[in-house]
Amino acid sequence: MAAPKPRPSILAVEPYVGGESKIPGVNRIVKLSSNEGAFGTPPGAAAAIAAMAQEAHRYPDGGAQALRAAIGARFGLDPARIVVGNGSDELLALLILAYGGEGTELVMSAHGFLMYEIAGTWAGCRVIKVPERNLTADVDGLLAAVGPRTRIVMLANPNNPTGSLLPAPEVARLRAGLREDVLLVLDAAYAEYVTRPDYDPGAALVDASPAGNVVMTRTFSKVFGLGGMRLGWAYAQPPVVDVLNRVRGPFNVNAAAMAAGIAALAEPGWVERSVAHNTEWRARLAEGLRAAGITVWPSEGNFVLADFGAPARARAADEALRARGLIVRAMGAYGLPGCLRITVGTGEECTMVIEALAAFMRAGPAHGRG
Ligand SMILES: *Cc1c(COP(=O)(O)O)cnc(C)c1O
Repeated sequence: MAAPKPRPSILAVEPYVGGESKIPGVNRIVKLSSNEGAFGTPPGAAAAIAAMAQEAHRYPDGGAQALRAAIGARFGLDPARIVVGNGSDELLALLILAYGGEGTELVMSAHGFLMYEIAGTWAGCRVIKVPERNLTADVDGLLAAVGPRTRIVMLANPNNPTGSLLPAPEVARLRAGLREDVLLVLDAAYAEYVTRPDYDPGAALVDASPAGNVVMTRTFSKVFGLGGMRLGWAYAQPPVVDVLNRVRGPFNVNAAAMAAGIAALAEPGWVERSVAHNTEWRARLAEGLRAAGITVWPSEGNFVLADFGAPARARAADEALRARGLIVRAMGAYGLPGCLRITVGTGEECTMVIEALAAFMRAGPAHGRG
C-alpha cells in the first residue's frame, strides 16, 4: 500500500526523551532531571505571563524588538545581531538545517548535547562524534575529524551532561584551526553558572570572526527559570542573523514567553542569587557524594555527573533515588550508562540526594550486580 513517506533521514532520528517528572505511586516528587533552575519561576516573570493572558488574541511582535533590546542591554550586545527562538533548541536545529544537509558532515564531541545529533540526522548530515579526554571536548580530535564535507562544528560549553568546559584560548584555537567556511556553534546554555575565570561564552569570538562563522546560543531555560516558556537566543554576525531570520517562523516566539523573558532579565538580583546558590550547593552535592564513595566529575553547570562505574550500579542507584521520590537523569542515551546526571536543586533537595546515595553506598555493592 502506498503511503506518504518523509525524507529517509527523518526516520533515522532517535527522538529526544526529556527528563521524567513522575514516579507511579509516589506523591512528593523532586525533579532533578532537566537542569531547571533551583529557584522556580522568577516572580516578575510569573506576573508578566499572567498579564499577557489578556493579550492572547494578539499576534506577538515577530521582530521581538523589546526582548532583543533587553537582551542586548543586559549582555552589552547589539540587538541587531540577536535572534530569538522557541527555546535555543529551535535555533540550534535551524542552524543545522540551514548550513548542514545531505552530503555534509556535522562534527561534535562524543558526549555532546543530544539535540545536535538529532537535528543533524534530521537534516541528513553525517554526524561525527569525536572521542573526549577526561569527558572534555578534545580540540585536536575535533580538528582532525573535520573533512572537506564538514559544514558545522557543535560545541556545548560548558557541556551537558559532562559539565566540562573548554577555556577561551582552547575555543579560539578550535576556531583558528577550522576552515573559514565551517560554522562553529557555541552553545552556552550554562554560561551564567561558570565560575572559572578563563571562560568566554562565545560573544567575543563572534565579534572577532567577521566572516560570520561563529554563533553563540543562550537560553532562558536554566538560570532564568523559564524552561516551560521555551525561549532562547542566538548572537551572530549579520550573515547568520539573515539566514536565521529567513528560516524561522515569523512568530516563532510567543508573546507570553517574550514578556516573561523581559521580566526575568529585570528581576533584581535573580541571577546573582541563583549563581551563588549553585556555586555553593554544586560543591556541597559533589563533596557529599564523593564522601559517600561516588566519583563525581567536575562541573561548571547547574548539575553534576555522578559516576557509578558500571551500568548496573547506576541503575540500582537510580532505583534507590526513585524510591525516595528523587528523579535524576539516566545517561545511557549519552553513552554514559554508568553515570547519573543530577541537577543542583534547593539545599533541601541536594541534601535528600546526598542522604539517599550515602545510604545506597552503605548498603554495599550487592545492590546493582547483574
Ligand atoms: C538545556 C540546554 C539547552 C537549552 O535548550 P532550550 O531549548 O533553550 O530549553 C541547550 N543546550 C544545552 C546543552 C542544554 O543543556
